Amino acid sequence: MLHFYFGVMGSSKTAMLLMQRYNYMQLGLKVALVKPAVDTRVSVNTVYSRVGLQAEAEIVLEKGNSIREQLNWLAVQHAHSDFQYVFVDEAQFLTEAQVQEMADMADDLEIFCYGLKTDFMGQFFPGSAALLRLAEDIQEVPGSLCWCGCKATMNTRIDGRGNVIKHGEQVLIDNQAEIRYIGLCYRHWREGKSHG
Ligand SMILES: [Zn+2]
Repeated sequence: MLHFYFGVMGSSKTAMLLMQRYNYMQLGLKVALVKPAVDTRVSVNTVYSRVGLQAEAEIVLEKGNSIREQLNWLAVQHAHSDFQYVFVDEAQFLTEAQVQEMADMADDLEIFCYGLKTDFMGQFFPGSAALLRLAEDIQEVPGSLCWCGCKATMNTRIDGRGNVIKHGEQVLIDNQAEIRYIGLCYRHWREGKSHG
């Protein structure tokens, strides 16, 4: 089955992913950790959570890569034929074709994709749109709050002075130090208020 767990910035999606993966590994299950190559937090293959958990991804998926081929290659490296569980961090950066491929593979594989639903402009990421169409299990990772105390549902890009940015590239490849992302409620995202 293909699962999509979505949440906004600060909802501890990656921490949840890493804890779920750890629990499965403790049970002796064969798990693979995957991330799309575009995420530039920490080093290229580190899956990093703000609460301090981290792990190395076994597969860093480039845009043109086939997940099926990458998993087959990894299975050969590990001297066993199949993985039972696949965990994908930052799944919003998957391509539509990669999500389609995962959906087609999920008959006999459990694939857990964690990621953002929408970008700082309130638009779908390509990976999220495909996951919302094709995943059989879709759940929201709760926990992120706006500064006002309401549930945060909107990913918000802010500059060094706390100004809300509503236009620009969907993904900033080189980490611009001044740019940060926070979760806001819809009202405060719409009004562009990043603090009280
Ligand atoms: Zn608010």
